Amino acid sequence: MLTSLSRIKSIVFDLDGTLYTCEPLAKEIEQTAKALVAETRGLSLEQGTALLLTSRRRLSETYDEEPTLTHTLRELGIEVAEFHRAMQKRVRPERHLQHDPILYALLDSLRQECDLYIYTNNNLPLARKILALLGVEELFQRLYTIEFSWAPKPDRETLRRILEDIGGPPEEFLFVGDRQVVDLKPADELGIPTLLVSEAGDLLQIHKLLGIVP
Ligand SMILES: [Mg+2]
Repeated sequence: MLTSLSRIKSIVFDLDGTLYTCEPLAKEIEQTAKALVAETRGLSLEQGTALLLTSRRRLSETYDEEPTLTHTLRELGIEVAEFHRAMQKRVRPERHLQHDPILYALLDSLRQECDLYIYTNNNLPLARKILALLGVEELFQRLYTIEFSWAPKPDRETLRRILEDIGGPPEEFLFVGDRQVVDLKPADELGIPTLLVSEAGDLLQIHKLLGIVP
């Protein structure tokens, strides 16, 4: 982590697992993936589940890190767009999420100094819905969702396009996410400051880094 972050003008947040954590919602997404594998292969849900888990294990042994769900599904011949169509049909964040006034206050206080962005492997309709349910939708300048390039994180070319779109040198950015390899490594490699969080409360570290009183 850099010592002086006073130049930061743009903060780019991952969404799921970073601005909120919600086990039942994560389960719904996982369940959608299992059902999709089963349907496309003509298998029972149990067999589809087993296939997904085997594929995930194989990938994590090959790359020595936990693969994203998107990567695992691709390995099984399911394209990114197909997975997101299934998610839009089956995943219902409104069952699980509600307004988070503390998150709102934390993000709102950062807005005095910086523009805020979302960069997520989630799709635009679901990302918008999740942000609206949390009550923080209006705080972001722009949402970079899977539709932006259809190339899920980690993806250097997409990252390059996002940086170009927002504008400014690497040291004016801060990337915040819950997965080192997926969210932060590509930014890190470009000399962009990063912050790994495991829950929304960790976002307070940003204020410390920037010297802002929340
Ligand atoms: Mg995440």
